[in-house]
Amino acid sequence: MKQKHTTLIKQESKRLGFDFCGISKAEFLEEEAPRLEKWLKEEKNGKMQYMENYFDLRLDPTKLMPGAKSVISLLLNYFPAQDENPPVLTGAAGVPLLKGKNSQQPGISKYAYGKDYHFVIKEKLKNLISFIEENIGAVNARAFVDSAPVMDKVWAKKSGLGWIGKHSNLISKSKGSFFFIAELIVDLELEYDGPVADYCGTCTKCIDACPTNAITEPYVVDGSKCISYFTIELKENIPADMKGKFDNWMFGCDICQDVCPWNSFSTPHTEPHFKPKPEILNFTKRDWQEISEETFNKTFKDSPLSRPRFEGIKRNLEFLASPKPSPEERT
Ligand code: SF4
Ligand code: SF4
Repeated sequence: MKQKHTTLIKQESKRLGFDFCGISKAEFLEEEAPRLEKWLKEEKNGKMQYMENYFDLRLDPTKLMPGAKSVISLLLNYFPAQDENPPVLTGAAGVPLLKGKNSQQPGISKYAYGKDYHFVIKEKLKNLISFIEENIGAVNARAFVDSAPVMDKVWAKKSGLGWIGKHSNLISKSKGSFFFIAELIVDLELEYDGPVADYCGTCTKCIDACPTNAITEPYVVDGSKCISYFTIELKENIPADMKGKFDNWMFGCDICQDVCPWNSFSTPHTEPHFKPKPEILNFTKRDWQEISEETFNKTFKDSPLSRPRFEGIKRNLEFLASPKPSPEERT
């Protein structure tokens, strides 16, 4: 029965558009506990206070959902066919080594080109729960998309969907790392997948390329130094010592993923909701500077760009335009 249910769920996840599905037993994440504790103690979460909440629940899905038996991890590709920032450097095999930024277009992370993934994925997860209820039976289930109480990368790794690279993103050996991760915690016993090996080897490209040195050691990203944190999560002013280090990124940053050799295997997604908004593809620096709050809110109301709001985007643009500190000021 377990095998039949597992096959049904995996087949349906494909039909719903997910690229990969892996399953693990819902249990305490023993290995992860000291690592998470250390990361929080060293304040690598910056001002992302919410990451300190639910410490026990984050490490144990059976506390998050009493009666939980399995964690179903799902990946959805968001690698765009059209890249706002086309590659300027290519390796020997035509592999993009660095997505150079056109100075006329402030950088926007690829995951934000289309409609907000939370809406898109939640709908798919709702459909997957309905499928389980109709084809397997009554189920107690909770769905999560990029939400603090679940350690999504750790579960995806445990379920064999990839390994966590030195840049701390999940990497699939066949398709790279441009994926959203979602989970369903269910009270159904299913067949479990095992983890895959780590294929980073001696590579250090992501560490070498990070402009703010946020990857402090292999596999450890100091969230409080990452451009994604500064441009999306931080509500206050961006610290002056970061001036000149953002490499023209206005919303998020893809550098460590763009330089990763495994992303030469990325293929364009097929999700219509992630189709880039024309403004994302065509807006010049000037267009961004001149956009009114009303137009911004109308254009980006269903986009991840609405998270930092109009004021956040303006703050980021001003930060990018502000003069770099002189060598004396840096010291
Ligand atoms: S997203 Fe950018 S700033 Fe953050 S770790 Fe990667 S390269 Fe560094
Ligand atoms: S760039 Fe290299 S070290 Fe970094 S995640 Fe990719 S393979 Fe691993």
